[in-house]
Amino acid sequence: MADGGWRLFSTFAGMEIKVFKFGGASVNSAAGYRNVFRILKKYNKTSIMVVVSAMGKTTNALEVVLKHYIANEPLELIEAFTAIYNTHLTVIRELFSDSSHPVYGEVESLFDQLRGYIRKGHLYDKARNTYNFEYDQIVSFGELFSSCILGNYLNSQGIPCRIFEAKDLIITDSANRDANVDWKKTGERVSEIILPWLESRDMSCVALTQGFIGSDAAGHSTTLGREGSDFTAAILAYTLKCSAVTIWKDVPGVLNADPKWFSNPKKLLTISYREAIELAYYGASVIHPKTIRPLENAGIKLYVKSFLKPGAAGTLITNIDHWNIHFPIYIRKQNQVLISISPRDFSFIVEENLSHIFLVLAKYRTKANVMQNSAISFSVCLDRNEQVLPELIEELSLHYEIRYNYNLDLFTVRHYTPAAIRRLTKGRTVLLEQKTRQTVHLVVK
Ligand code: ASP
Ligand code: MG
Repeated sequence: MADGGWRLFSTFAGMEIKVFKFGGASVNSAAGYRNVFRILKKYNKTSIMVVVSAMGKTTNALEVVLKHYIANEPLELIEAFTAIYNTHLTVIRELFSDSSHPVYGEVESLFDQLRGYIRKGHLYDKARNTYNFEYDQIVSFGELFSSCILGNYLNSQGIPCRIFEAKDLIITDSANRDANVDWKKTGERVSEIILPWLESRDMSCVALTQGFIGSDAAGHSTTLGREGSDFTAAILAYTLKCSAVTIWKDVPGVLNADPKWFSNPKKLLTISYREAIELAYYGASVIHPKTIRPLENAGIKLYVKSFLKPGAAGTLITNIDHWNIHFPIYIRKQNQVLISISPRDFSFIVEENLSHIFLVLAKYRTKANVMQNSAISFSVCLDRNEQVLPELIEELSLHYEIRYNYNLDLFTVRHYTPAAIRRLTKGRTVLLEQKTRQTVHLVVK
């Protein structure tokens, strides 16, 4: 990202290219696909690059397949696999009444590829690689299924659409499950593959690709981290030099709290890139944390809009150089654990201890959600990840006295007020409170 924010946006015949991202909730049923079609039809005089996620909860379901694959549990594996297969087939049957439509064969062949991959790993031990590598090869199929269905559906409804493989476009390193984008190579691929195609078409054509997926130098699939399709949309908008990205979601925009636990949340009309980065960083699930940087660098506007009310305004994330929010924004992270770490010999916590503790956290790829230091102990709040936490605690216990509390909530309130803090802590025990000017963190039981 070397152009320092100063660049011209691409246009064809005076029209800018738009990037739209449709998440899993927007394609979780046949009705969802029909709705995506209706939205795209409204923009039929625009060059659109569409990024689509896996259907509904398919990514979670593929993680279950992976779990049984790794644990060598063929019966459970087949059951989990079949459930995914059936969900997709049900949707395809609803969308394509003609059972000879090519989509049936295409999706079947993707499922065959996944079957073949899994079978090989079961038959030959040597065909298996690390958990993270296998994750990317297996879990990335969700986006391949959904894009195949969407591409075929749009074409069948009269929106000409071509599916581009994200593996050909998004080039990354081999850091599986959290791959880093090679911006130069990705930029080259996008200009070689997408731009000429969009230019050669009339504007009613849609270029479609999968979110979340990339590929490394060896051509193996990589993924960009959970909810990474937002990031894919940002990468494409950046490399296509677009002026705006729209993320279509099942909420009216960015809200000041998650309606699942907070009654009557308010919609934020316009927020700064900086605010969005802070919200994503502290765990607001509305936008993938890596999404904003490339957009901010290039001055690309990000709209978050409701796919149920596509005409409504949604939220605009753009360049604003001050905090323009005048009410609290609440972020809740559940299932937290607060670990307090003290030297065994009652000595003080010093820099060497801290750097050692951080090395251990980094080794287990565990993010410190909040931390606090006192003379004789260091407290850190982490996501309770059963895959790594027991080992992490064991390793720290070799050197320190460890105490911990499970099942906690971490609330982060941006632009907090005393009333906002009271609302969250009423009747609960506060284990840790940390304030800066704009933000308060509360770890509560
Ligand atoms: N399907 C992936 C996930 O659920 C990526 C995405 O939805 O953005 O994490
Ligand atoms: Mg998803």
